[in-house]
Amino acid sequence: MHRRDFLRLAGFGLVGASTLAATPPAPMKHWAWMRGGWKDMDDWKRSLAALRAIGMDAVLVGGNADFYRACVPPARDEGVEVHAWQFIMMRGEHVQAHPEWYAVNRKGVSTAEKPPYVNYYRFMCPSREEVREALRVAVRELASVEGLAGVHLDYIRYPDVILPVALWSKYGIVQDKEYPEYDYCYCGVCRERFKRRSGQDPLGLADPPAHAGWLQYRYDTITEVVGLLADEVHARNKRVTAAVFPTPAIARSLVRQDWTRWKVDAILPMVYHAFYKENVAWIERATREGVVALRGRIPLYSGLYVPDLPPADLAEAARRALAGGAQGISVFQGNTLTPEHRSALAEVLNARG
Ligand SMILES: [Zn+2]
Repeated sequence: MHRRDFLRLAGFGLVGASTLAATPPAPMKHWAWMRGGWKDMDDWKRSLAALRAIGMDAVLVGGNADFYRACVPPARDEGVEVHAWQFIMMRGEHVQAHPEWYAVNRKGVSTAEKPPYVNYYRFMCPSREEVREALRVAVRELASVEGLAGVHLDYIRYPDVILPVALWSKYGIVQDKEYPEYDYCYCGVCRERFKRRSGQDPLGLADPPAHAGWLQYRYDTITEVVGLLADEVHARNKRVTAAVFPTPAIARSLVRQDWTRWKVDAILPMVYHAFYKENVAWIERATREGVVALRGRIPLYSGLYVPDLPPADLAEAARRALAGGAQGISVFQGNTLTPEHRSALAEVLNARG
């Protein structure tokens, strides 16, 4: 038997050339978070055309299903994908009807009565079936909108048990360890579920922040919610993405996001250097940490915080993100870019191959 015939019989013949060649890199893609600010649909189309001109491919926009039904068709005309940007665990809308759905801290105080840090920080408990079902229903409705590219999960986490270091002075606090008033969730459902899993009551632990099993329980509850919502989105042939804290280690320790394990199609870490008192060069290191941890399973797009990036720094931040292995960037926010930001960014993004 000729070698070629043998390879074909073995299933190698027809695909041999492509499997021997290096896997082609996935195409670059660039994103912008967007919040309102346009007067009408013509204005919306103009703002999308301006983003397209500097090399942007997708926008993440907040709204309800009716809003997306109106704004998706014009965006498609402009060649820009629309993803439904949604706050997930932080939702105040059920606080009147279902205060018991809200997360409770280690002092026994619910975010329904007294949210931490700011009055809108009303996080729900991710362990509760009713919460999960309400989120599934909300996401299902959005994912049913024709032409929408995907659903983007934001605030898919616990409240910050420790805030990014640059915010401590803003709130007049020092968070050198996990303090009970910022540590969630110790509601009856969480305590019962953890007891079933480990035999222990989290409130009875000698040192809850140091307990690996209790930490893991909370990583897992968020990961489970992501999986449930991803199933809803995927069942409607849409993609699901998430905004997360900047590196896998920071995300786990500050907000209990174990995002390298999530069932999403892409991840958008908020690599907001100044929040962590870091410089622009850190964006490359932080990006690489995420890319390495994901091992090529899904693409990572580095989120850049425009208010802390003058135009030349924004361009440098984008270069750093790409050098760190990101498949693209996402700017917060697309509608706040100045003309100088746009031209600085265009040079980097439009230079792609
Ligand atoms: Zn709970």
